[in-house]
Amino acid sequence: MKKLIAANWKMNKTVKESVSFIKELKKLVGNVKNAEIVICPPFTSLHEIKKIIKNARIKTGAQNMHFEDAGAFTGEISPLMIKEAGCEYVIVGHSERREIFNENDFLINKKIIAALKHGLKPILCIGENLEQKNQGKTKNVIENQLKNCLKNIDKNEILKITIAYEPIWAISKGDPSHRAATAEDAEEGHKFIRGVVEKMFGGDILKYTRIIYGGSMKPENAKELLAMPNIDGGLVGNASLNAKSFAEIVKSAD
Ligand code: PEP
Repeated sequence: MKKLIAANWKMNKTVKESVSFIKELKKLVGNVKNAEIVICPPFTSLHEIKKIIKNARIKTGAQNMHFEDAGAFTGEISPLMIKEAGCEYVIVGHSERREIFNENDFLINKKIIAALKHGLKPILCIGENLEQKNQGKTKNVIENQLKNCLKNIDKNEILKITIAYEPIWAISKGDPSHRAATAEDAEEGHKFIRGVVEKMFGGDILKYTRIIYGGSMKPENAKELLAMPNIDGGLVGNASLNAKSFAEIVKSAD
């Protein structure tokens, strides 16, 4: 299974900036063979990026979506629109969506079901906050998130879902000096997640369920994190905003 390195640009980059980033990235990752590269820009850049990456092995994803196909949902974007823009992936349940926009597991579950219905591959974000970690509730929190968000998902569909373990306390919020989880701690979280998914969906499937790490991944720590047996890639925020540093992370996964 190839490692997946996904860029979450959050609310950064105009279309012009996105285009110049992708042109630079294409050159930098031209020889990469064994890593899957996904860029999740703001919605406004999706179509233009798709035009430039035509023959490059770079894919796109959306950062969020509504679960309905169309309707009176001001400010929202539907799975159909994301598909039309050429996306293969969609991030659901990012901690910023949960914390700032009050998304809960129930809503996230609906989004996952809708994404799968439209042939989009969800990247489901889960993870504990600092208070939960300090109270020793990490495993409880992530187990509940998995059980709720993956409710009523067919056994065959789980392979299409990537799980991103993003301990909220490790997310940089734009601070490049912010500390990631140690490779050992991240590995422990991933192993636990794999076990929960295994219990929910059955053993064999698990070999193919990708669990990627997010939270201050950068060129300096990517190799060590990605060398862990249960870490199948990374979801990269701040360090994905610079083509050179993102390319270095991609190369660590190649
Ligand atoms: C994220 O928010 O998904 C993320 C991983 O951010 P950062 O890499 O900046 O910690």
